[in-house]
Amino acid sequence: MDNRMLRYLKERVLSPPTTLAPERRRSFHIFLRIYLFVTAIHVVFTPIFLWINVPALTALNLLCIAVNSLTILLHLRGKLLLALLIKLPFVLTLIVAAGMLLGNNIGVEYYFFIILFEFVISDLQRRYKIILSAILLGIFLIMLQWLFGLWGEWSLGEPARKMLHALNLMTTFVLITYIALQVYIVSETTERRFRSDAYRDSLTGVFNRRAVIERADTLWCQQRPFALLLLDADHFKQVNDNYGHGAGDKVLRHIAQLLQHALRERDCIGRVGGEEFLILLPDANFDEAVAIASRLRAELASQPCRLGKRILPVTLSMGLAWSNEDQLLNDVIDLADRRLYLAKSSGRDQIIAEGGEAFDITARCEAFKGPSSTEEA
Ligand code: GH3
Ligand code: MG
Ligand code: MG
Repeated sequence: MDNRMLRYLKERVLSPPTTLAPERRRSFHIFLRIYLFVTAIHVVFTPIFLWINVPALTALNLLCIAVNSLTILLHLRGKLLLALLIKLPFVLTLIVAAGMLLGNNIGVEYYFFIILFEFVISDLQRRYKIILSAILLGIFLIMLQWLFGLWGEWSLGEPARKMLHALNLMTTFVLITYIALQVYIVSETTERRFRSDAYRDSLTGVFNRRAVIERADTLWCQQRPFALLLLDADHFKQVNDNYGHGAGDKVLRHIAQLLQHALRERDCIGRVGGEEFLILLPDANFDEAVAIASRLRAELASQPCRLGKRILPVTLSMGLAWSNEDQLLNDVIDLADRRLYLAKSSGRDQIIAEGGEAFDITARCEAFKGPSSTEEA
C-alpha cells in the first residue's frame, strides 16, 4: 500500500464522523486501534483453535471476528458505546467457554484484565464502569471456583498446555502494553491538537490574539526588550465587496504567510483582529525594527495575492512601538495602536514609529538613534 492510499485510509475511512463531539475523538481513536489490533489477534488465534481441535471454540472465535467487524463499523459511525457493549459479551463468552472446555491452567483468566482495562478507559459513565466491573469480577470468581473444566478437560499433552498458557500470558501482556501505549499516544496527540487550536488562528494558521499577547507578556516579564509592530490591511472591506469574502480570506492567508516567512526565527506574529496583525520583534532596536517593517511592506508590494489571473494588491499601514517606551505592556500596545491610527489618517500604506503618544517620549526615541521616524509610501 503506497503512502497516498494509507493517508486516504487514515483521513477518510478511519477518521471520526464530523458529528462526533471533539472531546470524544480521543476515545474514538484509542478504541478504533484496540478493535483493529484485537481483531488481528482473533485471526492469529484461529489456527490455534483448529490445532487444539475444539470446534465450538473455533466457531466462537470466528463469531468474535464477525462481531468485531460490526463493532468497527458502528464505531466508525460514531456509536462508540453501542459498539463496545455489543463486542464485550461475545469476547466474554469466548473466554468463559474456553475455560469450561479446556479446563484450568491454560491462562484464559488473564483476558479478564483486558476487559476490565477496556471498561475503565471507555467513555462509560463512572457508575456503569463500577457496575460492569463488579459483574466482571463476579463472573471471574464464579469461573475460578466452579466453571473451569465443567464441559471438558485439556486433551493434549502437558507441553502443549504449557505452550498455550505461555501464549495466553504473552498475548495479554502485549495487549495491555499496546492499549496503554495507544492511550498515551492518542492523549498526547489530542492534547497537542487542542493546545494548537487554542493558540492558532484557524484561518491563517499564525498565532491568535491570546497567544501573541501571552508571548509579549513573557518577554515583558523577562525584561527582554522588543519592538511591537501593529499592522492593518488598508481598505480591506473593498476586497470583500469587490471580490467576495472567499477572496478576502485568501488575501488574509496570503498576508499572514508572507509576513511569517519574511520574519526572523525569534519573531512572533499573531492575528489580533479581522485584518489586523501584531508582530513582536525581540531585541530589535529602532533601526532594525523599522528596517524589518519596511521589508514586510516591500515584500507584500512585490508579491501580491493572486486570484486566478487577477492580482489583488493590498497595502499595509503599520504602527511601531518599543517595550521601553512605557511602564505597562497594555500602554505600549496602545501606543502602537495610536501610531497605526496615525498611519491610517496620514494616508495609509506607511509605517509610523514615533508620535501618536499622549506623553513626551522624545528622549527615549532618541536613544535608538533612529532615522526619520516616518517612512513615506
Ligand atoms: P482601513 O484602511 O481603514 O483599515 O479600512 P478597512 O476597510 O480595511 O477597515 P474596516 O474596519 O472598515 O473593514 C475591515 C474589513 O475586514 C471588514 C470585514 O468584513 C473584513 N474582515 C474582517 N475579518 C475578516 C475575515 O476573517 N475574512 C474576510 N474575508 N474579511 C474580514
Ligand atoms: Mg483595515
Ligand atoms: Mg482593522
